[in-house]
Amino acid sequence: MKPDLFEAPDYYNLDELLTEEHKLVRDAAREWVKRDVSPIIEDAAQKAEFPKSIIGGLAEIGAFGPYIPEEYGGAGLDQISYGLIMQEIERGDSGVRSTASVQSSLVMYPIWKYGNEEQRQKYLPKLASGEWMGSFGLTEPDHGSNPGGMTTNYKDMGDHYLLNGAKMWISNSPFCQVAVVWAKNEEGRIHGLIVERGMEGFSTPETHNKWSLRASATGELIFDNVKVPKENLLPNKSGLGAPLGCLDSARYGIAWGAIGAAMDCYDTALRYSKERIQFGKPIGQFQLQQKKLAEMITEITKAQLLAWRLGVMREKGTATSAQISMAKRNNVDMALTIARDARQMLGGMGISGEYSIMRHMMNLESVVTYEGTHDIHLLITGLDVTGLNAFK
Ligand SMILES: Cc1cc2nc3c(=O)[nH]c(=O)nc-3n(C[C@H](O)[C@H](O)[C@H](O)COP(=O)(O)OP(=O)(O)OC[C@H]3O[C@@H](n4cnc5c(N)ncnc54)[C@H](O)[C@@H]3O)c2cc1C
Repeated sequence: MKPDLFEAPDYYNLDELLTEEHKLVRDAAREWVKRDVSPIIEDAAQKAEFPKSIIGGLAEIGAFGPYIPEEYGGAGLDQISYGLIMQEIERGDSGVRSTASVQSSLVMYPIWKYGNEEQRQKYLPKLASGEWMGSFGLTEPDHGSNPGGMTTNYKDMGDHYLLNGAKMWISNSPFCQVAVVWAKNEEGRIHGLIVERGMEGFSTPETHNKWSLRASATGELIFDNVKVPKENLLPNKSGLGAPLGCLDSARYGIAWGAIGAAMDCYDTALRYSKERIQFGKPIGQFQLQQKKLAEMITEITKAQLLAWRLGVMREKGTATSAQISMAKRNNVDMALTIARDARQMLGGMGISGEYSIMRHMMNLESVVTYEGTHDIHLLITGLDVTGLNAFK
């Protein structure tokens, strides 16, 4: 792969909106990605392997629980810092960002928000340091966009719960030590349970043959009469709103992360357009190529503003789920469009692993689907503005 020459676009001087701490956090993540992710990521993606060697680095830049208080091992940062870290990681690879998102927003967040003090003390420091990796089990083979229909369930056996069912498309599942699993009790109410590797009847087969997020491990979570200790139930929130609260946090991070992937594609295409000569001129001198670049930087700038404003509202606690949903949909769609255009600008070289663009493009096909598909987010905005439910 080519050396990482990335220069971040900042067309509207967005840095002026950031504090010194934001910039320090972002720059540390940016440097780490250049040094430790860019040199190895293409090979990992080609081999379809999650590069476990980067777990320590992810922990060091604060990517595991950026906003979790320091007393639990988190970085104690604000929401904008969290977003900037996700942006920088996804600039390297969406799969690596997925690993960090799951760990932070889908595993640490529910334990922090819905767990009790013993659970926080037991799990959060190990998850923050990367000693333990976690996964989040919501999606099932027959229930993706409609998780409320889940059939995974548990029964109260007196001194323990008995868990049965299966989850699929679960990031980090093949190597997770702990899984936050959403299952229905005997009354049909959804609760979160912490399942640990080694519990009898719990297995995590890997899903192979993915053309997307190849540097992220994906698999199933299978529960065959798993005895879960009663102290592993998350006591402080139940119902579908509990997993959806985690998704709000993760989707917010994705809204920033997608900007990173888009920036990398734009920056690569811009540089290439000045170097690649056809018909005696750099291709960047042709109007059709300039149109693509002009639209890319415009859309990136709009997405940056959307994410920053959402971060301010999240920090104040006023961002609604529908507002988060809009930013996730818009920014991922923006990144996917830019990746496709940037790939074309590189001609044949656009499909080569010498450049990051095709990898980003394929990764973004998962990002546009997980954490609510593009269509589902359109329906969320539609419901929000009309008050009319078009889901069913
Ligand atoms: C790489 C990867 C990693 C993932 N990681 C995780 C994870 O860690 N944990 C987890 O729980 N899940 C994870 N997922 C699952 C992901 O969240 C689901 O794939 C997603 O929610 C969509 O569900 P589905 O695949 O079952 O599609 P479906 O729900 O079957 O949707 C199929 C199509 O129908 C459309 N559709 C569905 N309902 C409606 C409707 N009411 N109106 C109009 N159109 C509709 C959808 O938009 C989509 O286009 C991951 C997925 C992938 C690909």
